Amino acid sequence: MLAFYSDHFVLPLPEGHKFPMAKYSLLRKRILASGILPASHVQEATAASWDDLRLIHTPEYVGAVAAGTLERDAQRRIGFPWSPEMVERSRRSVGATLAASRAALRDGVAANLAGGTHHAFADRGEGYCVFNDVAVAARMLQCEGAAARIAVVDCDVHQGNGTAAIFRDDPTVFTFSMHGAQNFPFRKEVSDLDVALDDGTGDAEYLPLLAHHLEEVIARHRPDFVFYLAGADPYEGDRLGRLKMTIAGLRRRDEVVLHRCAALGVPVAISMSGGYAPDIDAIVTIHANTIAVAASLATTTVDEA
Ligand SMILES: [Zn+2]
Repeated sequence: MLAFYSDHFVLPLPEGHKFPMAKYSLLRKRILASGILPASHVQEATAASWDDLRLIHTPEYVGAVAAGTLERDAQRRIGFPWSPEMVERSRRSVGATLAASRAALRDGVAANLAGGTHHAFADRGEGYCVFNDVAVAARMLQCEGAAARIAVVDCDVHQGNGTAAIFRDDPTVFTFSMHGAQNFPFRKEVSDLDVALDDGTGDAEYLPLLAHHLEEVIARHRPDFVFYLAGADPYEGDRLGRLKMTIAGLRRRDEVVLHRCAALGVPVAISMSGGYAPDIDAIVTIHANTIAVAASLATTTVDEA
């Protein structure tokens, strides 16, 4: 199994900003230090091309990001000020999901050690999301004829509003979002299947609901490829999440999704998505557990070179 990273570009963040950028490079170090994946299986992503991005995003929006002409309001909605690093990082994060998608076709499962930027719409960014990695990769797989019926299983605690809007009128991509009802975004889009959870939902309620609705996704859509957004923010220690999932429960969540897809023989590309616990070590553990579950399921491995 391969995992792709894009964590070299540190963004200049506004004073007092709480976005835990450090988690991405810490995750990569943890995966290597704990032997979850050998170093040769953790690869740097190349940037998505402007053409790739325009598979989903409007030429006007892509052009404004490229040229640094995003309005102040558009930058405020994204949450990062524009910078060349912001552009490079955003392109590489999409590139990592493109690479993971191709690797998943071969190995059954692969991951982007960042990504899951599901609040990005075709014509604008929002909530720390510039481009929608999963949407771009889904369309790329379809254009290349590698997949036809795609399901997005979004278990980040925030609704995948950008993804839902992008594929609202597209019957070939099924969007499933399981999220906190009281969480951002406060004006939600309509996914093909939305499961909105009450504040305080814990493992005992969450896991059976997920298993039930995952079967519904499979029965209704019969996907030949799955994108899984494994957000760490349903965790009880998360600053924004409002749910009460434990670290063990989140690992069980990953097993529910990934074991089911493996049993069906459907390839899965994983993106990490959110995670905002003040305890960064807990976030890294949750994400590393996702990679460990995936690594145990990969059908083939790349030769050590
Ligand atoms: Zn989130």
